[in-house]
Amino acid sequence: MLDQVATKGRLSGIYKPKSLPASKQRSLAGKYSPSIQTLSLLAFTWAFLGWLNESYLYWWDSPIWLNRYTEYAIILGFGAWRITAEQNPYSKRRLMVLVSVVTVLWWLIPWALPFFEPYIGYHGTQAVFPSLHTPGTVTFFGVLLAVSLFGRRIICGWGCPCVAIRETVGFPFRHVTPRGELAWRLRHMKWFFFALYMVAIAVLLYPPNSWSVSYMGFFAMIVVLPYFASMLLSPFIGNRGYCRYLCPYGSTFGALNKVGFYKIEFDGDTCNDCGVCDNVCDMGIPVLSEGRTRGKIDVADCMGCGRCVTECSKNSLIFHDVRNYLIPAQRDRKWLRDWATGKLTRTHWHTATFAGLLSIILSGSWWAHQTIGTPFEMATTLWTTLCFTH
Ligand code: SF4
Ligand code: SF4
Ligand code: SF4
Repeated sequence: MLDQVATKGRLSGIYKPKSLPASKQRSLAGKYSPSIQTLSLLAFTWAFLGWLNESYLYWWDSPIWLNRYTEYAIILGFGAWRITAEQNPYSKRRLMVLVSVVTVLWWLIPWALPFFEPYIGYHGTQAVFPSLHTPGTVTFFGVLLAVSLFGRRIICGWGCPCVAIRETVGFPFRHVTPRGELAWRLRHMKWFFFALYMVAIAVLLYPPNSWSVSYMGFFAMIVVLPYFASMLLSPFIGNRGYCRYLCPYGSTFGALNKVGFYKIEFDGDTCNDCGVCDNVCDMGIPVLSEGRTRGKIDVADCMGCGRCVTECSKNSLIFHDVRNYLIPAQRDRKWLRDWATGKLTRTHWHTATFAGLLSIILSGSWWAHQTIGTPFEMATTLWTTLCFTH
């Protein structure tokens, strides 16, 4: 018999976990020692100072240990720790891919090609080359398409530098992730930032004027300041606070998550209501409740980390995306767990697929760079975004 908590509102009918396994679940958020938490906060502060120095202070001519690349070096250091320490094979492999992608896109390429920064670009000097987070580029359009096919995990789970720093440096604070009804309701805050983002895209369609330049400056601050503030507030809001409530890009990808092919299927017959899925989710999603009440988890907030899927001892959760319509073998409910437990050696194929997808997107943008940034392309991106999110 299930325990139901009779609460009003969004979580009415939430299925309360019957019991939690005492200690063996690999992804349950443990509490780290104050010394590691202090180290984490120092690293976050260092990353913030790096951005501040490169943008405003220019101390010592912004050396690499105190500029935008400082953050990536910190990710590598903490990433090595996290990859070594991670007990969940799926999460370990995801971290390896994540740290590798960040290394290539935010460290190696800008070092080898100083005029090119793949994630956000060098504003004013890099107008045409792909930047994954810049609306109006073919790359961004490619990311939107990939998210609609495979889910937000394409970027928020496996490729964004923000998730990289929060899952490495920020990991000692994941146990304080706010959960419960209020924290779940607050997720709607992200649509405010989404609206600001849509205005920014619309502004880009017109020639710059003093108002639009001011607005874009304001929008840049709306992205950057909460980005760093949420790092320093990790002891109170957990490690994914920015992704849950504040990120305009995440809300765009989340909308596509909702209307695209991605979801997590829930098998209510095998589920034993242990509640582990709720407790391993750093995005604070009431996975069990969503599964019991709606039969699936297709919320905009799911960043596809796979912890709930791979930690479910009953195999009651399974990823679902466009491949389920194309490849009958993907309907095998066991394939992901077999992969995670090492029985299925598909890791390199999945890794290669992800790397290949990124390569195709980058090459496509390179090939089409003559058209990137034209009003036509920006209008196409805006139209596609609106079609997916209406
Ligand atoms: S929500 Fe935003 S910051 Fe977080 S991983 Fe996604 S794109 Fe990156
Ligand atoms: S879906 Fe799996 S992890 Fe979640 S409550 Fe059911 S059995 Fe437990
Ligand atoms: S619902 Fe599952 S896959 Fe989605 S963010 Fe939470 S733990 Fe990760």
